[in-house]
Amino acid sequence: MSTPTAVAGLEILFSREQIHQRVAEIGRQIDQDFAGERIILVGVLKGAAIFLSDLARNISIENTFDFVAVSSYGKGQRTSGAVRLIKDLDAHIENKNVIIVEDILDTGLTLCFLRSLFEQHKPRSLRIAALLDKPSRRLEKIDADYVGFTIPNQFVVGYGMDYAERFRNLPDICLMPPDFPE
Ligand code: 5GP
Ligand code: MG
Ligand code: MG
Repeated sequence: MSTPTAVAGLEILFSREQIHQRVAEIGRQIDQDFAGERIILVGVLKGAAIFLSDLARNISIENTFDFVAVSSYGKGQRTSGAVRLIKDLDAHIENKNVIIVEDILDTGLTLCFLRSLFEQHKPRSLRIAALLDKPSRRLEKIDADYVGFTIPNQFVVGYGMDYAERFRNLPDICLMPPDFPE
């Protein structure tokens, strides 16, 4: 039977099996780090929605979700540089353990912006979980506490991540060729 990835005809960088195994490991690590406590997972829409839903199901300690939305990227593969908050937190994070759940830590602009925004609310702790990390692209000094996979400077789609809103539904993480038409 043909899968969405095969239909899209894109090369797989990380298969669904590799992703699920790594997400389960991160979940176990979070369970250990926050044993006996509660956490709030804050997903960054839309790219982290699928990662958050899988991660939350691999965490045994009590957790709740929230989402924020920011805009920094245009429709294609290039960033505009500026980060803008489109949807704020619903939850009160004061004195709470917060984990920001992001699809990709790239230049670091988005997560630096969110980190300083959230720190103003005085959370008990603030950590970052990024499914992918592209350290070679960093413009801001920031690291994630939990990283799924470290990758070189390649544009990827699938497992929540888009190219002009397409391909979020692919179950695998795939490579997007630089000359792919919009
Ligand atoms: P930043 O540059 O601010 O660290 O990353 C901002 C956001 O750009 C990431 O969270 C992600 O949503 C998006 N982004 C960065 N690299 C890629 C990529 O390779 N593929 C896709 N689909 N989005 C990316
Ligand atoms: Mg993102
Ligand atoms: Mg995007």
